Amino acid sequence: MRPALLLLLLLPLLACADPYYQGPGFTPEQQYAATAEIAGGQAPVRRPMSEEQAKQAVARVARRLAPAGSSACQELGRSCNWRFIYDPSQELNAAATGEGDIIIQRGVAEYARTDDEMAFVIAHEMAHHAANHVQSTTQRAQIGGALAGILASLAGAYAGVSADGLAQGAAGIGSKLAVISYSKAQEREADAIGATIMRRAGYDVAQARTMLLALARLSGRTETSLLSTHPAGPDRIASFDAAVADMQAANWRLGRSQGG
Ligand SMILES: [Zn+2]
Repeated sequence: MRPALLLLLLLPLLACADPYYQGPGFTPEQQYAATAEIAGGQAPVRRPMSEEQAKQAVARVARRLAPAGSSACQELGRSCNWRFIYDPSQELNAAATGEGDIIIQRGVAEYARTDDEMAFVIAHEMAHHAANHVQSTTQRAQIGGALAGILASLAGAYAGVSADGLAQGAAGIGSKLAVISYSKAQEREADAIGATIMRRAGYDVAQARTMLLALARLSGRTETSLLSTHPAGPDRIASFDAAVADMQAANWRLGRSQGG
């Protein structure tokens, strides 16, 4: 076996770290129920909006989430310096990168039906920072050089935060986001911590679930690159339901002691 290939096979092992929150499992029945629920509804449609409207929506939600995200980071023993970057490409995707950078594409605003649904997508990415997933993924992705390209284009495009609190991403960031991917366990953890962040910011956690259903119903559509990095299926919804019940029972406290 060639050394390069061997290295690639070892990388997922290196990326493993102690999770902050693992969450309970779910039963096959819960997964069947989620499958039926996904099949029983319509995929969401894009609500076209102006560039300015989309930017305002993203900025409004990001601003409201930031303090809750910072306190979640503190509770997990980390400090997060948020920088929210708006990417004008019309895809539905968001990503966490760098040191507290959150890239949000225009499609997030256009597909989310409410601020609460948008809040879940953004809070999920903030949770990847809070739970320290980005570092391990950065190491993996840099092997391909693609993440370095994202960071370089951000550095070039970022000249201070505008009045709405958003930085503007460079053209072409969007297509590079597909390299940022996490393990299934990290995704589950980001869903649970993200739900906690949005709840603390006063958003409706029930709408995190409607967003997950929407994403699941969009599966297979080419315009949603979010789904290449965040597979949304019945297992994600079943595990989200189990995690929310568990977090609720624990009064939404974060920390290593909880959830195993
Ligand atoms: Zn994620």
